Amino acid sequence: MEFWYKFVDLTGGNNSVSLWLALFLVTGFGVAIWQGFFTVRKIQPRGFKWKTFRNEGFFAVINLVVSGLVLGGLTTYLVSSGFIETRSGPITWWMMALEYALYFFAFDTWFYWLHRWMHKEPMYKYIHKIHHYSTSPNPLTTLSVSPIESLINGGFVPLFLAAITVHEQTMMLITPTNIIMGIYVHTGHEFFPRWWNRNWATKWFITTTFHDHHHRYFRYNFGGYTTIWDHICGTVRPKFDADFERITTRRSKNEKAAEPAT
Ligand SMILES: [Zn+2]
Ligand SMILES: [Zn+2]
Repeated sequence: MEFWYKFVDLTGGNNSVSLWLALFLVTGFGVAIWQGFFTVRKIQPRGFKWKTFRNEGFFAVINLVVSGLVLGGLTTYLVSSGFIETRSGPITWWMMALEYALYFFAFDTWFYWLHRWMHKEPMYKYIHKIHHYSTSPNPLTTLSVSPIESLINGGFVPLFLAAITVHEQTMMLITPTNIIMGIYVHTGHEFFPRWWNRNWATKWFITTTFHDHHHRYFRYNFGGYTTIWDHICGTVRPKFDADFERITTRRSKNEKAAEPAT
């Protein structure tokens, strides 16, 4: 009992016990709702495999060490020898948008064509296969790539900056884009609403389901940031639209079922 009194004292006295109990219950409900939120958004409900996840962890470490050293060294060299320069000083928002858009669409083009190239033999076997261990991606899949593939994709940024001098403010947007977009398309959960893929203004921006299905079906959906090149070249998976509807409808049905009856 002495322990209990000490515990009560530590947690703010007798009156606070009910507060802590309430907090405990609220947290419990919060976690349950949070889990439910993710469960209904899982693109491949039974896709996760621990063995694949473990392999991905192994390759992620190798990739980070090797490509980090090479890309870091290359960038340092290009900066110190004056090949890469950034503009400092004030910048208008439209200039920043223009510079960023240039990077965004240039990288998307680079990624699409080299990705398709890496799906041909022998490149697939020696380079890209590691990234395809997971047929149902999770965020770790982002990093689970051959260091050679990391250099091919990551090498775009220093090359782009050597060709075009952008402002340092735009640089701060460009730098995290690759990793954020990488994690986003590999979350394994679809967070966008059903109308996203129907609306002509939004459907060109990649959804997680789009890339998730690249991992599941291999031969379609090669885009990295957008679906533009896939639409132009006819490489969008024919059943993609129908599957996107099904996945996002499953969620709204579940949410309706979870709503209390009125
Ligand atoms: Zn691929
Ligand atoms: Zn992927």
